[in-house]
Amino acid sequence: MAKTGMERLKELEKEIYKCIHCKACRFAYSGEPSREGIGEFAGKQSTVLYEGMLDACPAGIEYGWEAFWNAGKMWIARSILNGDLEFNEEVRDVIMPCITCGQCSVQCESKIPTVDIIESLRAACVEAGVPMIEKHQLVDRLVKELNNPYGGKAAERMKWAKDAGLGKYINNKNAKIGYYVGCTASYRQVEVAIATAKVFEQLGIDFTLIEDEVCCGSPFFRIGAVDTAQELMNKNLETFKDLEEVYFSCAGCYRTFTIDYPKWMTEGEELPFKTMHAFELVSKLITDGKIKFKPNKELKGKVVTYHDPCHTGRHFAHDIEQSMIKKSKNLMMDMRKIDKLIDEWFEIPRVILRKLEEDVGIKFIEMYRIKNNSMCCGAGGGVRAGYPDFSLRTASLRCDEANAVGADILTTECPFCWRNLSDANDLYNHNMQVMGVLEMISKYNLLDISNLK
Ligand code: SF4
Ligand code: SF4
Repeated sequence: MAKTGMERLKELEKEIYKCIHCKACRFAYSGEPSREGIGEFAGKQSTVLYEGMLDACPAGIEYGWEAFWNAGKMWIARSILNGDLEFNEEVRDVIMPCITCGQCSVQCESKIPTVDIIESLRAACVEAGVPMIEKHQLVDRLVKELNNPYGGKAAERMKWAKDAGLGKYINNKNAKIGYYVGCTASYRQVEVAIATAKVFEQLGIDFTLIEDEVCCGSPFFRIGAVDTAQELMNKNLETFKDLEEVYFSCAGCYRTFTIDYPKWMTEGEELPFKTMHAFELVSKLITDGKIKFKPNKELKGKVVTYHDPCHTGRHFAHDIEQSMIKKSKNLMMDMRKIDKLIDEWFEIPRVILRKLEEDVGIKFIEMYRIKNNSMCCGAGGGVRAGYPDFSLRTASLRCDEANAVGADILTTECPFCWRNLSDANDLYNHNMQVMGVLEMISKYNLLDISNLK
């Protein structure tokens, strides 16, 4: 039986007590791409000098009060454990507006798994009988009724595929590879789903789209509605169990299947299939010399930057780090190995961007905060659904960073980041195009598969 939130919080007690309240976790390093400094940049949200250590916790930046920064939440967890504090609506309203972006966990020198602590704290709060905020109650109800939090009809989940002439892949029985589309790309950012499926088709992959897929459960693991999340997980595991591999285009779904499911499955059980994000596949084919891109006049000279989604960036980096720490007999020696592995992980999407620069003629320029130090898009952790104004202001801060390097196009590899960044781009007039990397490849017909055997 799965552990309760309180049991998980107690298991994390030693980690929680490691926190010395130094508050280093509120900052992240800004300084890429090794510039001499750009001076002050007046963005839509604030004027910033993108150099050195900058405030980086979106919750702290938004609310300002001590309790909202990560250090405050670690103190709340400690107080709950030692009985100085009880769960109530006031506590809920401090621990919920946090994007679970993980910025704090990578900054903490004590390697405290802050996101696990915050998620356990939230689950324990729900178990204690504190009602979820109304907007979270709504998405919980919708996903229970319709298997997605957007209120889309279950029968219309694959409408995008039928409309785009990709219907033959729906319930394609012979395929051993599945494309798990996820709710955002199925019901909102269908351009991401279409582009991904078309790239798979061009690459000659025999894949299936399964009409019975349901929400991956990511928002519900994050907001503490773990019963809902586990129910969704069990449905997906049953639906996808006969496949050898499952591919993803959404960072959140990929993280949930790859990192969360194994933690919540019955002890000793393993995922019955391998998982891979589409960007890993494309990146590997480039590295192996099997694909390249065609030049494109429209894109030539355009400044393109890349936003690392927290779910495929920091969260995987954190997972790599934690599993190496568990295995390590000499952490001092192994830290270099860990850093190298993490850097290799963050390079994977950049292989695609650099190849686009070489072949297509785009100008790939990094933002000032990238990889582990990347600023969150503001969508995750139940924040987009629960606290949309905070969510969009955070996305606008990230758009400011893209404006600061003169980006014409802000790319990412997650439909949820895409949506939030795009909405903030429109709302706050950042005047860029927001696009998925595979979406760009598909939209401009850039793929050259002449070397693909
Ligand atoms: S979580 Fe880590 S970095 Fe943050 S206050 Fe605690 S010890 Fe310091
Ligand atoms: S997970 Fe992100 S938003 Fe939440 S406390 Fe940490 S840095 Fe702040």
